[in-house]
Amino acid sequence: MNSAISLKLFSFGIQKFHDPNWTGLELFDKLKQHVRQRVEPKNMLFETLQNGLLLHLGMWIYEEYLIHYEEGLIELEGEYILWYLEDYIDLLIDSGVGQNEPLILRTIEQINSFNILYNDDDENIYYEQLQERDLVLKKLILSLSEEYEDSIQAKKLIYAQDFAERVFHDRVLCEFISKLLIVIGFDGAEEENEEPKQWIKRKYLQSWAKKAIIARDRGECTECNRNLVMELVASYHFDHILPLFQGGTNDLSNFQLLCERCNLEKSKNIIPVNTSIPKYLQFKKSKNLK
Ligand SMILES: [Zn+2]
Repeated sequence: MNSAISLKLFSFGIQKFHDPNWTGLELFDKLKQHVRQRVEPKNMLFETLQNGLLLHLGMWIYEEYLIHYEEGLIELEGEYILWYLEDYIDLLIDSGVGQNEPLILRTIEQINSFNILYNDDDENIYYEQLQERDLVLKKLILSLSEEYEDSIQAKKLIYAQDFAERVFHDRVLCEFISKLLIVIGFDGAEEENEEPKQWIKRKYLQSWAKKAIIARDRGECTECNRNLVMELVASYHFDHILPLFQGGTNDLSNFQLLCERCNLEKSKNIIPVNTSIPKYLQFKKSKNLK
């Protein structure tokens, strides 16, 4: 797996989550097919599935990022097109596409011609050429995504799983997605003014799901940080971040670990989740950098 692509895919996904045109149309339509039980998995959002919402989000984002049929859908400008093409070629070669295929050669030639310009003394020519050959580069992206669609599809699951893991590990992002589902209309209510309905009750939380939640939350209550997996005190609750009665789903992304006391205190109130990003990774704004 190419880590540059997986990171860019993740940030592209975050951007899409904030784009009402995408969430309100594309995402809404895709989810509708599952919730109305037209496509597999028919119980997505209802049950806690290993290949549930997060994996599907990853697959949809991947398709959106790497498969283009219309020039208008390529929103990249300037150098970003070039960098995108470089990653694209890496992905294809990684998928087993030969470096000597005519279209690949043609693309590499284009990229190299820009790299030569960049290394020359006059940077302006490089930027001028980027503007001038914008259409040529975009056409190359279109041709590649059409010609090698099968190779790109073959890598989808690996990148989608990586995307799902990245999202799952960020509890705040999971909460954001749970809330987003309600905003775009998946609270289980059939009529517009109806109270959100409870999703079909899950019978049990499978052991893989329990393991995943305990691991992500490091065996601690996400509210009071009490260690919950020490043998003598082990007593933990798997809490719906967004309660079912408010339209929260049974997807893995909507669970967190709470101790008994915090869970009782939370009862029917929604409390904002605490971040799952380790402290040493959090940027301190107050620090005076001199
Ligand atoms: Zn607690």
